[in-house]
Amino acid sequence: MRLFSTVFTIALAAISFTTQAKVGIAIHGGAGTINKANLTEAQQAAYRAKLKQAVDVGYAVLANGGKSLDAVTIAINVLEDSPFFNAGKGAVYTFDGEHELDASIMDGATRNAGAVAGVKRIKNPIDLAREVMDESVHVMLSGAGAEQFAARQGFEFVDNSSFDTPSRFKALERAKAKINAVEDEQAARDALPKSYLYGTVGAVALDAHGNLAAGTSTGGMTAKRYGRIGDSPVIGAGTWADNDSCAVSATGHGEYFIRYQVAADICARMKYQNKPVEKAAAEVIHDVLLPAGGTGGVIVIDHQGAITMPFNTSGMYRASRSEGEQADVRIWQH
Ligand code: ASP
Repeated sequence: MRLFSTVFTIALAAISFTTQAKVGIAIHGGAGTINKANLTEAQQAAYRAKLKQAVDVGYAVLANGGKSLDAVTIAINVLEDSPFFNAGKGAVYTFDGEHELDASIMDGATRNAGAVAGVKRIKNPIDLAREVMDESVHVMLSGAGAEQFAARQGFEFVDNSSFDTPSRFKALERAKAKINAVEDEQAARDALPKSYLYGTVGAVALDAHGNLAAGTSTGGMTAKRYGRIGDSPVIGAGTWADNDSCAVSATGHGEYFIRYQVAADICARMKYQNKPVEKAAAEVIHDVLLPAGGTGGVIVIDHQGAITMPFNTSGMYRASRSEGEQADVRIWQH
């Protein structure tokens, strides 16, 4: 009888162990030409501290048994509120000297998703994307309509100039000077440092209930015009989460991430080709995107908590924290 009860107890423990997922979170603050020589020790330390703060805030939600969606949202809020990153405060300027913000979020448990594009007066666009997911009958809202929905839901509005920063303004002026000087706009944009073009923030997480979530928020591309929308608010391109495979947030040249459906492709390779997350993500970033001319990177967490963060640029601001470990914060390849 005793033997039976011992075996029974062990079996029960095994069952509860398998239902208890290993929590984990990864965040990014954008990929690009991040030159070591251009960042002072003090600047590096400040970036690292902000990345650590964001990943730790998200991890605390997970460690307390909270939802991956909440961990992703709160981590992104920290990065949106920092002037260091191209999202919220610190967003790049459009050609016309404004800020147009894009964001999206996805719930891996339900494949529910919400996104906003081209919003100008919402302090934390990821919160509005979440509201679209939770409280609207749609997935993606844009521009004036998205702000009308925000007003209806009681969101606070801020002035577009509250996202201003002198360094982004300087980048706009340099970009416009190059673009205005030549006929071939694409060539002018290609010649700009990648750091002028990109930057985005994002987070992916796995909670103790086994649910994955991903979110991304951005100011887009410096000197973008004509209402340009990048990959960040496009579900499947810049953001994807599916409990069966993985959760992804991307950063990079959005036009390519849209055309190659980067986020969803990584998870599809896991799901249908049984590839480990590291291989699936590396293939898309290095073997598919790069030969096509697409630069950038992704953060990915799989349904077992494995994290990988490949990029094909010189750097990507990023941090991760797995269960029982301290935050791992990085900028360059190593
Ligand atoms: N992917 C963003 C966009 O194209 C920018 C970035 O991630 O750096 O809008």
